[in-house]
Amino acid sequence: MPTSLYQDDLHRNLLLEDASDEGLAVQSNHHVIVHGDQAMLLDPGGHKSFERIHFDIQSLSPGIRLRYLFLSHQDPDILAATNSWLMVSQAEALISTLWLRFLPHFGLDTDFESRIIPLPDQGTWLDLGGAPLVALPAHFLHACGNFQLYDPRAKILYSGDLGASFGMDYRVVSSFSAHVPLMEGFHRRYMASNRALRAWAQMIRHLDIEIIAPQHGAAFVGKEMCQRFITWCENLTCGCDLMTDLFTIPTPTHQS
Ligand code: FE
Repeated sequence: MPTSLYQDDLHRNLLLEDASDEGLAVQSNHHVIVHGDQAMLLDPGGHKSFERIHFDIQSLSPGIRLRYLFLSHQDPDILAATNSWLMVSQAEALISTLWLRFLPHFGLDTDFESRIIPLPDQGTWLDLGGAPLVALPAHFLHACGNFQLYDPRAKILYSGDLGASFGMDYRVVSSFSAHVPLMEGFHRRYMASNRALRAWAQMIRHLDIEIIAPQHGAAFVGKEMCQRFITWCENLTCGCDLMTDLFTIPTPTHQS
């Protein structure tokens, strides 16, 4: 059953149950925004998720049309099943212009290439059946071409891998300090630099945010909790800030 993050008479924001969280597969959240009869699916996932997520979307209500796939970046847990989604819908897939020529290597039929819409580095406003949404630049957090999506009606920021956490059994963060160890290691290694995080925080503080919903793990709910997360990001050293010691040639293990 989908979890509702926001609902009014015309607009719904739903979190679909993950379908690939087994074995080595990383736990992933799949979000849907429905406005009127149009829907956007964010970070649809790979082949293991496709059947379940497709079923869930078909079950939402009859007549809902999948208008957009929002692909925050190029990782397989985001877009490996893009071709299947384009086969079963008339949706357009939105992705950074940097990844346009790489996506076909996931088995994209040439017939569908015209439905891949490149997002420019500076981001863009989108229209979902009359509801404005904005694709925000979040480059280097973690991919070099990386977008987040803000829904001003629901006041939800879909933050992709930023805010990802692993190993908890809850869906909403209740204690920020207890949650930090579940996201810190990932952010220190995957996020490119504190400079990128500070630029992101400066941009994001202009928005009215009630929920920050990452693609993995628990969500930050309430203005205060969202602000705590933004401040944590702003002060985090990560990626290139920490990597210099790692660039050494490994000690040989073979006999010469
Ligand atoms: Fe990723």
